[in-house]
Amino acid sequence: MSSFNCEMLRIAREERGLSQKDLARKLHASQSDISKFEGGEKMPGEDFIQKAASFFGYTVEFFFRPFVALPSGLVFHRKRSALSATERKRIVAEARVRMLDLAIFAEFSGIQSGALPLRDGRSPEDMARHIRILWAVPSGPIANLTKLLEKNKIAVLPFDFGSTFVDGFFMPPAEEGSLQCIVMNANPAMPPDRRRFTIAHELGHLILHRNEFAEETGKRQENEANLFASEFLMPAADIEEDLSAPLTFARLRELKSKWKVSMSALVIRAQQLKKISDSEAKRIWFLFSRYGYRKNEPVMGLSEERPFGVTWLVREFAKAKGTTAPASLFLTPELFARRYPDSAGLAGRDRQEECTREE
Ligand SMILES: [Zn+2]
Repeated sequence: MSSFNCEMLRIAREERGLSQKDLARKLHASQSDISKFEGGEKMPGEDFIQKAASFFGYTVEFFFRPFVALPSGLVFHRKRSALSATERKRIVAEARVRMLDLAIFAEFSGIQSGALPLRDGRSPEDMARHIRILWAVPSGPIANLTKLLEKNKIAVLPFDFGSTFVDGFFMPPAEEGSLQCIVMNANPAMPPDRRRFTIAHELGHLILHRNEFAEETGKRQENEANLFASEFLMPAADIEEDLSAPLTFARLRELKSKWKVSMSALVIRAQQLKKISDSEAKRIWFLFSRYGYRKNEPVMGLSEERPFGVTWLVREFAKAKGTTAPASLFLTPELFARRYPDSAGLAGRDRQEECTREE
C-alpha cells in the first residue's frame, strides 16, 4: 500500500480556503500537527485521516494518492494583483483536484493530447501561424475557439472561480502524457469575447511556455501570450484590410461581430499592425472611457462558447462506473454530485431506469 501523501492534505485544505489554524480547529487537532503532516515531518494517525476524509468529502484513499507535485508552471491571466493569496490558493487547489479527476476520465476513455510542436526559438506570432496550419484552421475569424481546441484534444476545463479577478490559467498536467487542459473561469459575469481571448492567451502559454516551470510568470511571458492570442484570433494577413478603413465606433462594432473579439482587442491589434497612429489610439481610448466601454462593451450578439468535452468524459465515466463512480475518483457521493451536477443527474436517471426495468 502506498503511504500518506502530505501534498493531498494541503490541496484539500487550500481548496476549502482554510488556513492550517482553521483546519486544526475544525478537526480538533493542533496547528503544529497539521503543519507537520503537510510538511511530511510527521505521519497522521488513522483516526485523523478518517476525520479529515469525512470533513472534506473525500474517501480515505484520497490521501494516499501517489501524486507528485510538479513545479507549477502556473500562469494567471489578467487582474491577478487584486486577488488575495488565500483566494488564489483556493482556485488553484480546486483546479488541481479537477485536473486529477480529468486525468482519470481521459485515461478511462483513452484520450490523450497529441504531440505539440516545440518552440525552437520561434516568435509567438510564428507559433500562432504554425498551430493554425497544423490544425487546418481556415483563414479569417475562428468560428468557435473552444470547439477547435477540443477537436485537437486540448480540454477546456470550466468551473466558477467564485471571483472575476482571474479569467483562467494554464497549468501542466500532473503526469506526463496526460490530457492538456486550459482552466477557464465559468463565472457568468465574464463576457464571451473576454473568455475567448483568455482561452487564446492560455493556449499561448501552453504552446510557448509549457516547459518553462516558472513559479510566477513575468512580463515577457504575458506579452508573448498576448501576441500569440492576437495573431491566432486575428491573423495579420487576414485582418489587415478590415483595419484599414477608419476605425469609427460603428466600424469597431461591426468588426467585433465578425471577429468575435472585443473592441479593445481590435484597437490594440490595429496599433500593433500600425494601422492607426498612437495619437489616434489615444483618442479612441479616451472615448472608450467616456462611454464606459473600458468596463462594459456592447455584446454585439456574441454567444457563449460552451465546452462539451469534459462533460462528455464525465458522463461516459459515470455511465460505465454507475454507483462506483464517486469512489473511483476518491469522492463521497455527495461531493461527486456537487462537483459534477450534470453527470449525477444522469447517473440518477440511469438508476431510475434500472429500477423500472427490475420491476
Ligand atoms: Zn498569462
